[in-house]
Parts: sequence; structure tokens; C-alpha cells
Amino acid sequence: MQPTPEHSKRCEQAVRPTCVCSTCGGSLHGWSGHLERARRGGEGVRELSEPAERQWWEQRRRFQENRRKAPTRYLRRAGGAVAVAAVVSWLAEHEDTVERLEKLGNAIHRDVFGDGLAAFAAQCSDTEPAFADYGRAVAGHFWCDLLAEIANVLDRGADLLGRVPDEVGAAVLEHGDAAEWGRVRTMLAEVALRLLWRSAHVLLGTDLPSAVLHLRVFAVLICPDPGGHSRVADSCLRPLARDTVRDHLTAGMDPEWLWGDKP
Ligand SMILES: [Zn+2]
Ligand SMILES: [Zn+2]
Repeated sequence: MQPTPEHSKRCEQAVRPTCVCSTCGGSLHGWSGHLERARRGGEGVRELSEPAERQWWEQRRRFQENRRKAPTRYLRRAGGAVAVAAVVSWLAEHEDTVERLEKLGNAIHRDVFGDGLAAFAAQCSDTEPAFADYGRAVAGHFWCDLLAEIANVLDRGADLLGRVPDEVGAAVLEHGDAAEWGRVRTMLAEVALRLLWRSAHVLLGTDLPSAVLHLRVFAVLICPDPGGHSRVADSCLRPLARDTVRDHLTAGMDPEWLWGDKP
């Protein structure tokens, strides 16, 4: 395992819509801060929900002023922040889920990023130096893309006990998000997908609806920009805001309209 003594607390607590942290390759981005806010309850939730609401109403006002019809990226992003606050508010009432997601997050960071991917990258970097900085190659929307697609395939009834279905890999790579990934990130994604699948099996068990829910929530927590990242918005935020966390939304919004059509 790679030691990460210098990891930035700003990355772990991040709520801004970018991630360039190569130390953790985004594997620690945002989620531990969100879990910690959920543990603090109302006060922790308000840290997110109050600025998110203000931003949402401001973007709504601009949207109407400009007589827009389709949701803009700004509006989607603002709605995403309100929905993330709702997810954290829901988590505040589900301690067991917080525990489980923390185990999943630690497995992603230590076992998948720190162990498995590190070993693969070290092996490849002998012949391809680009693999040496593998943390940089996977920063950004990497983990959220993979987790969202795993949730999608489980939602369609795949069995976590089996091996990774080919369709997940295809779904990850065929999506527009992967168009500019390049060879190094693509190869890392294929390895990370197998490792994530195994961790999800060990930690989330065989109850499919609950595994899907956990993966969607975690994808939202680790994504640097859930409302603006189309794969996460469409596959994770939209179903969560429509069902599980609907009663926790502090601003009225229609998730189908906001994230239903691919931008
Ligand atoms: Zn980081
Ligand atoms: Zn993302």
C-alpha cells in the first residue's frame, strides 16, 4: 500500500466542483467530509443546505430572467448541491449506512487505489513511464463514473457474486465521459472496475436494491460535481432525489426535468 501522509484535508472536505488531487487520485475526494457532516447531524447538514439553497434560488432567478427552457449546467449544478445536502441529511438518520459507506470509501482508497492500482501502475511504468503518476491519471470523474455504472448494471439485475459483466466495462467506456480518457486512464479504469466489483461484493453483500442504493449514494459523495456530471446526475442523483431522499430536499425541484435528458 502507498503511504499518503501528505493528503490534503481540503480534498477530503471538498464541496467545490473540481478535483485535481493526484495524491489520492480523487479516491478521498469529498466523501469523508460528507460522512462527518452526517454524523454531526443538523448542524453538519446545514453547512451544505444553506449555501446550496441560496445558490439554487439565484440560479432559478437567472434561469427565468433569461427565459431559458432547458436546464443549464449552472442550474443542474445548483440543484446537485441541494440534492447532496438532502443525501447527507438522509444519511444523518441512517447511521448504519454511514458506517458501511465509510468501509467502502476506505476500501476504494486503500485497497483499490493504494494497493491494486498502485501495483498495476508500477508494473506498467517499467515500459510506459506515463503510469508512474497514476494518481494524476485517475483524478477527476473516475470513481464516480465506475460506481455509477456498477450501480446501473446491478439495478438491471446483475449478480455481484459473479465476475464483472462485460457490459459494465462497455458502458463505462462507451459513455461520452470516457471519450478523452486516453490509454493510461482507460487501462486503469479496467483494472479499477474489477477491484471495485470485488470490494462491492465483500462490503455490500447480495441484497441488490441495498447495494444499488449504497453505490449511488457513494458515487454522489465522491463525485466533485454530481449535478453537472451527467452520468452521476442521471444514474444516481435523479433516482435518489425522486425516491430515497425526496423528503429531505429543501428546495422544490423536478429531478426528471433537471437531470433526465442527457445534456
Ligand atoms: Zn485527494
Ligand atoms: Zn463525477
